[in-house]
Amino acid sequence: MLPFKLVYSDDYYLPIGAHVFPAEKYRHIHDRLLQTRTAETSDFLTPEGASDEDILLVHTSDYVRKLKTGTLSAQEEMQMEIPYSPELVRAFWLAAGGSILAADNALKDRIAFNIGGGFHHAFPDHGEGFCMIHDVAVAIRGMQRDHKITRAMTVDCDVHHGNGTAAIFAGTRVPSDPLPSSSPTTLAPLRPAKSRRSHAGDVFTISLHQENNYPAWKPPSSIDVDLPDGIGDDDYLAWLDNALSSGLRQFDPELICYIAGADPYREDQLGGLALTTEGLKRRDELVFRVAQARNLPVMVTLAGGYARRVEDTVTIHCNTVIAAAETFRKQS
Ligand SMILES: [Zn+2]
Repeated sequence: MLPFKLVYSDDYYLPIGAHVFPAEKYRHIHDRLLQTRTAETSDFLTPEGASDEDILLVHTSDYVRKLKTGTLSAQEEMQMEIPYSPELVRAFWLAAGGSILAADNALKDRIAFNIGGGFHHAFPDHGEGFCMIHDVAVAIRGMQRDHKITRAMTVDCDVHHGNGTAAIFAGTRVPSDPLPSSSPTTLAPLRPAKSRRSHAGDVFTISLHQENNYPAWKPPSSIDVDLPDGIGDDDYLAWLDNALSSGLRQFDPELICYIAGADPYREDQLGGLALTTEGLKRRDELVFRVAQARNLPVMVTLAGGYARRVEDTVTIHCNTVIAAAETFRKQS
C-alpha cells in the first residue's frame, strides 16, 4: 500500500480521436501501477467532476457558457487544438475535480497524485494547446476559497511554458500577508539558459521549459527558466535545484503543485530537451525531497508526454509515483 492516494478515473480518457496527445495514457498508467504492484486498488480514489462554481473560480462565465452550450467559435476550437464535444467538456470537469481531490489529500498525507490533469495552457477565457480547463488553478482557488490554504507554489516541469498558469496568477496578492521584497538572486550555475523573474502574489509560479517551443508568447511566471534546446539531465537538474531554492527563499507556500510533464524526455515528439528516463526520475525525486525537507504538501499532476512510444510516456509517469513512494516511505 502506498503512503498516499492516487486520484484516477477511467473517464479521464479524452475523446479526441487520433491525436498526438495519447488520451489512453491515463488508463495505461493506472493498469501498469497495479500490474507492477507499485499500487493496490485501495490506493486509488475516484474523483467527481468539479462543480461549475469551482470552474468559475478561474474561468470566465462567458467561456464556461460557450463550453456548456457548444458555442465556441471555429477559431477558439482551433486554438484549443482538440475537437470540441460535450464528452470532452465532462472529461475536463472531471480532471479538475480530480485535482481538487488530490490537493485535499495532499494536505492530509503530505503528497497526493492526480493521475491526470496538469492542463497548464488553459486561460480564464479560452483553451489552448490541448487544454480546456486549468485544473491546477481551479484546485488552488478552491482550496483558498475553503480557507484550507492561502499560498501555493506551482512547479511546472513540463517542457512547454506554463502560460495559462502565469496568466491566471499574475500579480495576485494577499494584502494581509505581504511577501518579503524580492532581493536580487543569482540563478546562474550555467550560462546558456536565461532566467526571468517577475511578480509574486498568493500563488508563486515556477516554470522550467524549453525556450524555443510552444507557446510563442510566454507571459511571465514568478520564475521562468528558459532552457536552451537539447539540455540534458545534469544541467536540467542544476537549473531545477536553483529555481526551487530561489523560489523557496522568496516565498513560503502551504502547498506545492507539481506539474510533472513527461515531455522533457529526449524521445518526445513535441519537446526538444534531452532528458533520459532516469534523469526525469531524478527530477521528480529532487522536487519531492525539497518538499519533504520543508514539510510542504505536494499535489502532483501529469501534464504532457508525447514520446514516440506511448509506453515510454507511461513509464515516465509511473516513475513519478515510484519516486514519491521511495521518498515518502522513508520517513513514514
Ligand atoms: Zn507539454
